[in-house]
Amino acid sequence: MQTTQADKIFDWAYAPAPEATDHVHINKKYDLFIDGKFVKPGKGKYTNTISPSTEQLLAQVAEADEKDVDKAVKAAKSAYDKTWKKMPGKEKAKYIFRIARMIQERAREFSVIETMNGGKPIRESRDIDIPLAANHFFYYAGWADKLDYAFPNRKPQPVGVAGQIIPWNFPLLMAAWKIAPALATGNTVVLKPAETTPLTALKLAEIIQESGLPDGVVNIITGAGQTGAALVNHSLINKVAFTGSTEVGKVIQKALAGSNKKLSLELGGKGAHIVFEDAPIDQAVEGIVNGIFFNQGHVCCAGSRLFVQESIADKLIDKLKDRMSSLIVGDPLDKNTDIGAIHSKEQLDKINQYLSVGKKEGAEMYQPSCIIPKKGFYCKPTLFLNASQSHRIVQEEIFGPVLAVQTFRTIEEVIEKANNAPYGLSAGVWTDKGSRIFNLTSQLKAGVVWANTYNKFDPASPFGGYKESGFGREGGLHGLMPYLNL
Ligand code: ADP
Repeated sequence: MQTTQADKIFDWAYAPAPEATDHVHINKKYDLFIDGKFVKPGKGKYTNTISPSTEQLLAQVAEADEKDVDKAVKAAKSAYDKTWKKMPGKEKAKYIFRIARMIQERAREFSVIETMNGGKPIRESRDIDIPLAANHFFYYAGWADKLDYAFPNRKPQPVGVAGQIIPWNFPLLMAAWKIAPALATGNTVVLKPAETTPLTALKLAEIIQESGLPDGVVNIITGAGQTGAALVNHSLINKVAFTGSTEVGKVIQKALAGSNKKLSLELGGKGAHIVFEDAPIDQAVEGIVNGIFFNQGHVCCAGSRLFVQESIADKLIDKLKDRMSSLIVGDPLDKNTDIGAIHSKEQLDKINQYLSVGKKEGAEMYQPSCIIPKKGFYCKPTLFLNASQSHRIVQEEIFGPVLAVQTFRTIEEVIEKANNAPYGLSAGVWTDKGSRIFNLTSQLKAGVVWANTYNKFDPASPFGGYKESGFGREGGLHGLMPYLNL
């Protein structure tokens, strides 16, 4: 393995700065949140949820079967008919606003639990996930009494009961993305978090209970794929919102074909970072690192493909290697940590398989010489140089801190290469030229194109993809539409 300049400079260590955990309360066992109460699962089955950074047991979580799903959907249907659909928008807004405030009040606790259960650095959950989740509730609280102004000359009507299924990479934030617009538009909800990261959604259930939201308006049920499938297929569900793998997204799309259920899918991605020779190079390096290495690459919109203009490739790659050598991989509860734990053993195995595939395909692998903890699931930040379009590491979503690098000479060439992927979720363009940015934003087939930055989110801004990345938008005014009949 190559030693870079940064290996020599950064051979001193930061003193540990661990976040306190004594203020956090995690129950030993969690039941299903149905009709405003925590109820035991019919079959009495529970599964373990662990911390991927220590492999320690955190809690046992109920597994909902078909009958439990039926109970939850019926509670949501009854709450829709009896209370929520009739309640004036300005009253609904007060509840949504209250939930936002309560998340803010308990933000520190939520951040620590998110990090313990999912493995992401506390810096990310504290500064991004939890504040953004609260902001989504604030933002959509504002729309609840203004729907007629959002869609002038149309009569926005709620859809009914929404079945919502979310993945493990942003557990609370995805719950907020799903629940907040659904409530603001007058729908009721059954939400299923990912089986590996259910804890913050269950904590959110506690907040919802305390907030006084009418019983049954939000139901949160836990379980794995079968629970999700039972929810999707329930006859009283009017709308399915799914974020997760393209594979499961396709299964859901098939299951709903021919039904009159509305569907939105936010699936995988293979984001392209495009760096031109006139780009602010140090900022671009920081953006690339932020886009793929922070958060372990566990982001659907991760910038996992880098296209760098040939004339600056050597310089940029040297700088990138130096920056990678200074990244701290380890305990996600430590405030110095840049790259936390991979979310599960299965995911780590999958990433390691791709590392072997990349080497076999002939790309040149680089990892800095950092030390990773022995216990828990960790992966060093990884570059693959001299990758080519046909490589699997360029075409397939890895969902880990792995960046495939290619060079380009002309703008036509890079547009062609960037668009040549099955996904179309995100891209980043780095250049000094405004006209070039506008040219690329119209030609890149990606739902989001960031210019001279990456991975920036705002509740007012829509997010979603093309091609195998799914359809439908979340966030902003657009995020109201999937939950309305107009
Ligand atoms: P990821 O690995 O990105 O989390 P998955 O698509 O496996 O992707 O999981 C996303 C969510 O979908 C999880 O909550 C999971 O339990 C759920 N899920 C898995 N299989 C199905 C299915 N057949 N029908 C509905 N939901 C499912």
